[in-house]
Amino acid sequence: MATFKLLLLPGDGIGPEVMAELKAIVDWFTAKGVASFEVEEGLVGGAAYEAHGQSISEADMSRAQSADAVMFGAVGGPKWDGVPYDKRPEAGLLRLRKDLALYANLRPAICYPALADASALKRELVDGLDMLIVRELTGGVYFGEPKTITDLGNGQKRAIDTQVYDTYEIERVSRVAFELARTRRNMVHSAEKRNVMKSGVLWHEVVSALHRESYADVELNHILADNCAMQLVRRPKQFDVIVTDNLFGDILSDVAAMLTGSLGMLPSASLGAADESTGRRKALYEPVHGSAPDIAGKGLANPIAMIASFAMALRYSFELKDWASRLDQAIAASLEKNLRTADIMQDGMIQIGTAEMGKSILNELERLAG
Ligand code: NAD
Repeated sequence: MATFKLLLLPGDGIGPEVMAELKAIVDWFTAKGVASFEVEEGLVGGAAYEAHGQSISEADMSRAQSADAVMFGAVGGPKWDGVPYDKRPEAGLLRLRKDLALYANLRPAICYPALADASALKRELVDGLDMLIVRELTGGVYFGEPKTITDLGNGQKRAIDTQVYDTYEIERVSRVAFELARTRRNMVHSAEKRNVMKSGVLWHEVVSALHRESYADVELNHILADNCAMQLVRRPKQFDVIVTDNLFGDILSDVAAMLTGSLGMLPSASLGAADESTGRRKALYEPVHGSAPDIAGKGLANPIAMIASFAMALRYSFELKDWASRLDQAIAASLEKNLRTADIMQDGMIQIGTAEMGKSILNELERLAG
């Protein structure tokens, strides 16, 4: 039986509530003998600030470095609005992404049939939707230098952000996209704006060369990022994998996400380079949502995004693809039973809380495991 090291960082607000449901599922996998998960738990965000005066301790950073996967809840809340900038809760997440060099952010948009009517788009456009956005996460305009606001002295100021990409940054994230496409419907759309941006010209050139050299078996389409946004709301099911830079990925993944309904449903993964000896990638899995202070402590939070993030870990970090699919099916089955947390509640459905949703998914998993 394979052994995996898992670091749980529940964080703040609803983070610990949704993580509690995930813990029960992880324990079930170990008890069932699917794999042995060695689970450690640490502090991040406001919780770490209270305990250590920083958003993540050095000890937890070194646990994260040696873990096979980090499961992250959510951070932040009004209580820490006034803490120094470098110690704010979000700094813990940024440090994890930076120190683990997590350059590829995976955001799936999957529409569960039971929730197709909750989408802002018509059912026929989203029913059965299953696509994945691979966003470059550590480069581009959010990090490029110079990044300044200069006073021009004539009552005007000038703001500069710099969009900058090197070949290797484009190549490594595109490689992730092509590899993932091979495990799915074998199609990649590469989105940039080569019509107006030099970084788009290079992006197009590097993706095309990599495709020719190593991934000619995968269908590659180039698409301008603005057209991609339009196509996402026009005919989203035409996409399988979209690879794009940090800025366009930020926007396109939010558009894609909302095709499927609530924030409480959306998982994500951030992957780094593969270790040369083990082939395993550094990886952090987290729901897209934040700490939801408005509902924290009330047992109302939807745990599906957190649990679906673990399904991604089973798929991308632990090579347990069949179990990943079963866990996804267990989520779908709970929704088919008309069970809904408050955020996805619709007329005629049965409203339940965090713990009941977690328990239902676990029961369905047990049933699917046979
Ligand atoms: P949020 O995602 O926390 O909440 C937005 C809305 O969605 C709220 O009404 C909330 O109740 C609801 N919601 C979110 N997740 C839900 C779930 N699982 N189940 C049911 N409802 C859910 O975003 P926000 O309100 O803008 O931010 C709150 C705090 O979270 C801030 O401190 C912010 O900085 C932080 N934040 C953290 C992360 C992260 O940890 N990755 C991401 C976004 C925001």
